Amino acid sequence: MRAGGLPILTYHAFDTSGSVTATDPAWFAETLSALTRAGFQAVDLASWIARGRPVVERGYALTIDDGLQSIFEVADVVARHRATATVFLVTDRIGGDNAWQGQPADVPRGPLLSWSELESLEPLGFRFAAHGRTHVPLDRCDDRQLDDELRGARNAIEQRLGRPCPLFAYPYGRATPRIRQAARRHFAAAFGTRLDTANHEQDLHQVSRIDAYYLRSRRVLDRLVTGRLQGWLRMRRTLREGRGAMTYPFSWRLA
Ligand SMILES: [Zn+2]
Repeated sequence: MRAGGLPILTYHAFDTSGSVTATDPAWFAETLSALTRAGFQAVDLASWIARGRPVVERGYALTIDDGLQSIFEVADVVARHRATATVFLVTDRIGGDNAWQGQPADVPRGPLLSWSELESLEPLGFRFAAHGRTHVPLDRCDDRQLDDELRGARNAIEQRLGRPCPLFAYPYGRATPRIRQAARRHFAAAFGTRLDTANHEQDLHQVSRIDAYYLRSRRVLDRLVTGRLQGWLRMRRTLREGRGAMTYPFSWRLA
């Protein structure tokens, strides 16, 4: 990680279940308070991309994958900090649930936001982006289905919410060169699960993020707010890459 990288934090569910994909709403509130106390400000991800990914002193970005209703547990926290959070939506499942095929058994099932609930979150600082139509791992799609997953999700969001949809997050973080090439046709930028801060040197269709799973301890949060996260992230990356073929059961929690 290089100096000046933007920490783009990735969340999924907000509850006290202790699941690997869940964040305690109280800890989320403490995380934003710690960042604000340290002088950090949330940046709007789409505008940061549109501005060419500039270095932002004491900036961070919030992303939330899947669009679960538990976002309401933290909506007031986001609003209070005048933050924006980008929510990556699974458009065929909006108003349904996250029990899609391939969802690991130990990820709690939960309801997803409806279109009208999405609109109610906009004034609080939430922005919406695409995470595929069905959350299928894109490396299992042929070219036609791949295009349909990307284009269909973007069109649904643009038509229902009446706003452009320039951003995409890969389901399960799976982004082969073929998938990235397809993402390039439909989106200004796409986000994976490589554990790093984000900077303008990265592939615009493989922008790094930091899963909230790694920010569960006070010690790591302290590293983030004091600008000492880099060495720690490098060490975690080495551990993940060292798992080699063992990474898949682990990697879904980072998607
Ligand atoms: Zn997801």
